[in-house]
Amino acid sequence: MEIINLGVTLFNNYLLKFEKGCVLLDAGYTTDYPTFLKKIEKAGVKIEDIKYLVLTHVHNDHIGYMKDLLENTSIVPILHEEAEGRLLEGKNRLGDCSGFLSRCLSFLSKVSGKSGETWEPITLDDRKVYANKDNDYLKKQAFPLTIVELPGHTPDNIGLLTDEGSLFSGDMTINGFPARHRKTFLIENLEEYKTSWKKIIDLNPHTIIPCHGKKFPISDMKKYHGKVETIKLWKNK
Ligand SMILES: [Zn+2]
Repeated sequence: MEIINLGVTLFNNYLLKFEKGCVLLDAGYTTDYPTFLKKIEKAGVKIEDIKYLVLTHVHNDHIGYMKDLLENTSIVPILHEEAEGRLLEGKNRLGDCSGFLSRCLSFLSKVSGKSGETWEPITLDDRKVYANKDNDYLKKQAFPLTIVELPGHTPDNIGLLTDEGSLFSGDMTINGFPARHRKTFLIENLEEYKTSWKKIIDLNPHTIIPCHGKKFPISDMKKYHGKVETIKLWKNK
């Protein structure tokens, strides 16, 4: 498997290249489609080589050009069942903040208008595959990754485990300023978040690859487990 990062500094948009085709993780911001097309061309990938779009969760920085992909290609979207309704809502559902810094960041992104970005509702057709339900289909297709449900940041957050032992975590973890202790910024359900953190430790992948920031070793999640257990949420108002 080859990992190509099509993203920008703080947002990773991974394309995973396998022998039988590519898997795209998430679909950036709404305006990113032309850049995405340029970047895959530069990487020597044809759009028809991308077989699956795995949506880690519904937030505006992950679903931006999903509609373009669905309309212009035969790509198969794989997503949590909970994501489908959110795609129709056309705007982010934001949780509470995991710390003071994330509270500040959330305030700044609201002031700048970034967190309020909306999208045209996305309706899925028969191609959709539910990451949390359609195991038999995925097995039959020899889908080359293992889906791991990691709710908390959002209820629909999913991760992907590779055969080599890396875990793409969606927004379950973040590794870059101003995030601290590899925690995500926004949490919809704290108890689920803590359970997902423990689930990753138990799975024991050697490397965690977040959508925001650099990859890091599993030892970091063990080191910061106590910090996660004592998170106090700041209301995101
Ligand atoms: Zn998110």
